[in-house]
Amino acid sequence: MNIGILALQGAFLEHQKILTKMGLNSSLVKETSDLDKIEGIILPGGESTSMRLISQRKKLWSELKLRLNLGLPAFGTCAGAILLSKSIVEEDTETLGLIDVQVKRNAYGRQVDSFDDFIDLKFSPEKAYLAIFIRAPRFEKIGPQVELLAEHQNQPVLLREKNVIISSFHPELTDDLRIHSYFIDIIKNKGR
Ligand code: GLN
Repeated sequence: MNIGILALQGAFLEHQKILTKMGLNSSLVKETSDLDKIEGIILPGGESTSMRLISQRKKLWSELKLRLNLGLPAFGTCAGAILLSKSIVEEDTETLGLIDVQVKRNAYGRQVDSFDDFIDLKFSPEKAYLAIFIRAPRFEKIGPQVELLAEHQNQPVLLREKNVIISSFHPELTDDLRIHSYFIDIIKNKGR
């Protein structure tokens, strides 16, 4: 299995380190042709506007959107989650639109308002999970097909629709591999 990581900007190397730790092959996705060799893709945290503009300039955006619509599994963290959501509150910018969620950028405030806290993962409730929030978005207006995988203070922070998961926090910045493992299981079970 080879997992792609969108590597235009942001925390892509942190995701790659986690996959390596799990004994998995991964490759950095910078060009359209890089999409040919992957079975799933991670969209990292960083700046969603920069990632969108760079990938649009490289034509990677439209090709990625096509593959995602054909069922390529995707995991978006923070800025990556913003890109995968259906729409952005008070912004008219295009997204990849894979998960029926309206997202509010920087909903928790500025960089200094970043925080970490324990959450419970519905698919792994035996131990609390330390989630790191950095200028996190908030998931609002969630469609009926979307499954809640974790919340923090009654706000959804980890969601799934079909082969797509999004987190408003940064699983790549912890040593806890459970969310990445969950995504790998989605790829393995795809189409079953
Ligand atoms: N605030 C950033 C954005 O809107 C996301 C922050 C992050 O990925 N840590 O793109």
